[in-house]
Amino acid sequence: MTYKSHIETLAIHAGQEPDSATGAVITPIYQTSTYIQSEVGVLKGFDYSRTANPTRLALEQCLAALEGLELDQPTYGLAFSSGMAAIDTLLRLIKPGEHVLVSNDVYGGTYRLFERVLKEFGILFSYVDIGDPNQVEKNLREETRLVWLETPTNPLLKIADIAEILRRVKLFSPQILVAVDNTFASPYLQQPLAQGADFVIHSTTKYIGGHSDVIGGAIISKEAKHYEQLKFLQNSIGAVPGIMDCWLTLRGIKTLALRMERHSENAAKVSKFLNEHPAVDHVIYPGLVNHAGHLVAKKQMKMFGGMVSIILKGGENAARKMVEATRIFSLAESLGGVESLIEIPAVMTHASVAGSPLEVPAGLVRLSVGIESVDDLIADLDQALSTL
Ligand SMILES: *Cc1c(COP(=O)(O)O)cnc(C)c1O
Repeated sequence: MTYKSHIETLAIHAGQEPDSATGAVITPIYQTSTYIQSEVGVLKGFDYSRTANPTRLALEQCLAALEGLELDQPTYGLAFSSGMAAIDTLLRLIKPGEHVLVSNDVYGGTYRLFERVLKEFGILFSYVDIGDPNQVEKNLREETRLVWLETPTNPLLKIADIAEILRRVKLFSPQILVAVDNTFASPYLQQPLAQGADFVIHSTTKYIGGHSDVIGGAIISKEAKHYEQLKFLQNSIGAVPGIMDCWLTLRGIKTLALRMERHSENAAKVSKFLNEHPAVDHVIYPGLVNHAGHLVAKKQMKMFGGMVSIILKGGENAARKMVEATRIFSLAESLGGVESLIEIPAVMTHASVAGSPLEVPAGLVRLSVGIESVDDLIADLDQALSTL
């Protein structure tokens, strides 16, 4: 079978050949830590499951294929026990005294890792509005080694022009690496490696897994050299996912295309409904023409994704009332699962950035629009807003 297929096909087949030992169509759960040696040092490709495991390898190959890499050997995908573990491992490529330029609307946990853990080891971090490529360019330094992009961002859904930023960064210095956290878009909607990024990272906990039942992360590298360095780090640090988690993630991936289509369609309709509702002051959704990044999003994304943020006219009090009044949208952190979730970032997902430059507006409400009937979702929001 050739893997020069479409992403819908890759999601179901890449890395997932029927099991050669038994013919099992679905990748088996190789729940084993070690592998027999017929003679000293003679193995069938696996020796210890921190280093490599067949179920994890299937996931890693599939993730690399989804991000547009050819499925050759070795594959350039690596799976981790969480998105944060993936980010931490990638940052080990950066040395003390080197500088990392970061989106000023980066995921709160990423900010915490950079500011409260890695800064102590002498890595320099600074933050800019990546919605403006000029800002990125102006803040590059002699010692800059990595540019960290997230697009769309969380929870303000800002859009970075990946191709334009890459062009300017590589012009400044080809040595500077660019990583894109592609968690919000998923490879179905956006493929940063094709635009020239060196790394894509994912919290596979979100859209890739898609069912809110597993925590995981991934790094996909464009170049073999980086893959080899990161593979060494993955094995040395050991923040690898459990086998069952790999299997669950692979199972979720099979429907990625269908889910992302529905998430995007539902979010478009929900954002339109909210945009016209008298209790709503402002809707942030890259699919709306009034969104500052709409044209860039249209250029680099297939659809606009499932995340919508709103500011209510009634501010913080109205926000609290609304999120407690929904019946289908569950009040919970996280995103990207089949079920709809609603939350207040300032006191929930983004509480750790309070008082920092990343602080989010107190009255902001974030919706992760699921794949339920959009009529039911809109009716639910309508009744919740009617309580205000
Ligand atoms: C959730 C998330 C992470 C962290 O991933 P975990 O799997 O929770 O460790 C990183 N980046 C973004 C954009 C996220 O949404």
